[in-house]
Amino acid sequence: MNYPLPNCGFHSIYQQFSAVYLQQTTRCPNNCIFCACIKQHRKLPSRRNHGDMAMADLEHILKTIPGFRGFVSLGMSGEGMLLDTMPERIRLIKRHWPECRCGLTTTFNVYRGGEYLEELFESGLDGVSISCYAHTDDDYKKIHGSKSFAGLIKNLEALKNRKKGKEYLQRVKLVFLNDMETLYGVANAESKRVAFENVARGCGIERFSYNDCFPWEQPVQPDGHALWSLPSPCSVVWGQRAGILNIHANLDVVPCCMFTGDDFILGNLRESSLEEIFNSPNWHFFNESWWKMQPGNIPVCNLCQIYRDNSRPEEAGRLAAWQADQIAGQKVVFYGCGESYRMYRSYFNRSEPVAIIHDDAGSLPPAIDGIPVKSPHILTGPEGKLPLVIFAAPAASATILKRLKSTFPDYSPEKLIICPANAYIKPDFSRLD
Ligand code: SF4
Ligand code: SF4
Repeated sequence: MNYPLPNCGFHSIYQQFSAVYLQQTTRCPNNCIFCACIKQHRKLPSRRNHGDMAMADLEHILKTIPGFRGFVSLGMSGEGMLLDTMPERIRLIKRHWPECRCGLTTTFNVYRGGEYLEELFESGLDGVSISCYAHTDDDYKKIHGSKSFAGLIKNLEALKNRKKGKEYLQRVKLVFLNDMETLYGVANAESKRVAFENVARGCGIERFSYNDCFPWEQPVQPDGHALWSLPSPCSVVWGQRAGILNIHANLDVVPCCMFTGDDFILGNLRESSLEEIFNSPNWHFFNESWWKMQPGNIPVCNLCQIYRDNSRPEEAGRLAAWQADQIAGQKVVFYGCGESYRMYRSYFNRSEPVAIIHDDAGSLPPAIDGIPVKSPHILTGPEGKLPLVIFAAPAASATILKRLKSTFPDYSPEKLIICPANAYIKPDFSRLD
């Protein structure tokens, strides 16, 4: 039972990682426009050039967590396809952790030829996630800072031409970028993407998904994010990402994959055990900063724009218990009475709801669960100062926030809670203009 939540030392208590991110190299031939690593290290001290993870170090990690059965990601700010030894590394991982699922995140644009690719898949690689955020030579140069768009296509064709090419390509997923036109000024992005998707389908790829990658050079408010964009601690301290162990090529352990340098590390696995690392002063400092909602304490978090997660309902439930604790005994306003309300409302039984607001209040009964149903316009009155709890599905929260903010520009609740907590809220770049 890990309640109350801010129990610094989450991993050291449970030692149950759902995923291990193993950076195999810090080398990369690309220069992506959104690269956290490149952008951060213009400002922060860096030992970014750690090179490749030594095989002995990799084996040390594999022995540190015997029989790990979760997901192993070979990615993290470096291009694994540069490594001649990548197939050997995957075989080693599979020998020690036969039940793990092993995935490579790559731009796949370093042309390696069919034999290497075949060896890669035959080594036991379960999946390849290809980040492909531009679909013409020129756009690729702009977004990925690389002239190797052709290398990606050549690799796909080389894979297709192997005897077991069809089977290998079923393990491949292409990841595209959301909002390419707005965020990065790519003209006709959608039609170019569709044309490339057809090429990829012709090679035998059937899986496609989308990612959010935000520009790091947007101006960011100094020292902390606005209430509207960060209403609860980052999911790295409570959600699905709390179960990820992030290890750099030099065996530094960091809180999440956005920590790409050596400016904030939790410990090093050559020098310390996992137990020591997850009880280190830096680990406590990191957790405490977030539970006190002081991300400004940690420079990387203060700049971070990937405040999002796919946490499971039980994780969101644990956070709801913490959220409810923050407003126990207070008068509050609820927003929404749908599925999220039914799932999470009982956590907030120690608060005193004065109203449930809903955009379509007129079509609802005058009261739900004994709480008066009102239009959002009550927020212009004294209720507007009370804490607001928005019960909404993850995809809807951002829209609700945006609408409230534009309809009531002066609205500033004492506290804002989104339940279930989620980080699907994209950065509001218009706020920062
Ligand atoms: S491929 Fe990854 S590490 Fe390399 S520049 Fe792009 S974002 Fe950065
Ligand atoms: S705010 Fe960003 S950098 Fe900080 S822990 Fe969360 S995801 Fe990582």
